[in-house]
Amino acid sequence: MQLFAFDNSYARLPAQLYTRQTATPVRSPQFFALNDALARDLGADPDALRANVDVFAGNAVPAGAEPIAQAYGGHQFGQWNPGLGDGRALLLGEVISDKGRFDLQLKGSGRSPYSRAGDGRAGLGPVIREYLVSEAMCALGVPTTRALAAVTTGEQILREGPVPGAILTRVASSHIRVGTFQLQAFRGDEQALRALYDHTLARHFPNAETVEDVVTQMMDRQADLIARWSALGFIHGVMNTDNMTVSGEAIDYGPCTFMDAYHPATVLSSIDRMGRYAYANQPHIAIWNIAQFASSLVPMAPDQDATVDRLNAMMGDFVGLYRSAWIRHFAPKLGLPPSDQAESLAQRFLKMMEDIGADFTLTFVNLDQPLDHQDYADWRADWQAAKPDLALAAKTNPQVIPRLHRIEEVIREAIDGNRAPFDAMLSAVTAPFTVNPDFARAPEPHERVMATFCGT
Ligand code: AMP
Ligand code: MG
Repeated sequence: MQLFAFDNSYARLPAQLYTRQTATPVRSPQFFALNDALARDLGADPDALRANVDVFAGNAVPAGAEPIAQAYGGHQFGQWNPGLGDGRALLLGEVISDKGRFDLQLKGSGRSPYSRAGDGRAGLGPVIREYLVSEAMCALGVPTTRALAAVTTGEQILREGPVPGAILTRVASSHIRVGTFQLQAFRGDEQALRALYDHTLARHFPNAETVEDVVTQMMDRQADLIARWSALGFIHGVMNTDNMTVSGEAIDYGPCTFMDAYHPATVLSSIDRMGRYAYANQPHIAIWNIAQFASSLVPMAPDQDATVDRLNAMMGDFVGLYRSAWIRHFAPKLGLPPSDQAESLAQRFLKMMEDIGADFTLTFVNLDQPLDHQDYADWRADWQAAKPDLALAAKTNPQVIPRLHRIEEVIREAIDGNRAPFDAMLSAVTAPFTVNPDFARAPEPHERVMATFCGT
């Protein structure tokens, strides 16, 4: 019986783009979570999936799948690394359903030629974190990879100490990254680059005719994505070029967070000493990454010199694209239509929030309540004069975001064998506009989680 209708177009591309690879079996897999609604979107029967935990553990290859580890490179914190790739993940294949074509990937499935010093595994904590954050993102309307399943492996893996191993089944419109293009351009492999380019255009840029068209659409997508993140107080934490998709979906929720107290310089990862991936720096990194993408595509253009000139000129457009996207996503948070005036009101509001360390999410939820700030009365008069629509604000500003301290609590309980808190949190974060005093609450000072490590 076929669990999924596979059609593996990536595995038909030139062999330089991947390695055929099977997962390393695990001892005693058990479902930790299965996403029934997403299973149905993939044209699968959730009960049939539930009867096949081995597929989600990498112990059995589902009929029709052709597992591969994808090759990619990437700039990690600005340093070029040509040796990345799926070091602990496998693309099982692409599933075709009436909703489209989706990659099905196992993350934590064992070693591959791209593993370097890694063990090819994932811990239950990071799997839970990615599950909760990606499903929350989806519910918040942000383009994102999804979580179809999480299984525990029955094996311990070694991180700071021993932790339970787990495998996430990730769904994405594809796993093609900026770094996927960079690697082939770096190798000077025009045949592989051309095949990847044609494949990617068909899948993600069906209306693009030139390299410039592709880059323009990429700029639009990323401007919108990063502005959506900003409007949620989200910090990705590792915006390396291997963690930026060309589909425009957010991917790889490692050391990420939604801010509690607002400060634009908030950094997440303890390894990000320079603040490269700080909240307010995300649009700058996005265009930096897009510039790497654009330069990787140059060999695909008929007139390369002219294309380079045009691409260089286009990079400056990102500032305006991002500004429009920012206004588009922040204006409704104040109950206003997009305008320069709304932009200015939002910036003034954020400045006051920064000064008083206001909770990002709750301040927008309680938009009608005064801020304890000397500029508030003036701001409020201007805001009222703009005639805000509070109903618009209410449906734009989420009550519940996946707060880091709650995720960490869910993880601790899950490791102790109690998965009920996970279910409660998943329900809360996938209904983000529903009033939910428990999950909406900001952390008390003693509950704050200071730094997430590049914890994998
Ligand atoms: P990430 O930081 O998760 O985006 O991963 C960056 C690179 O490191 C990718 O090539 C991953 O496949 C690889 N990697 C991360 N963790 C592991 C691991 N435990 N074993 C093998 N490779 C890993
Ligand atoms: Mg990654």
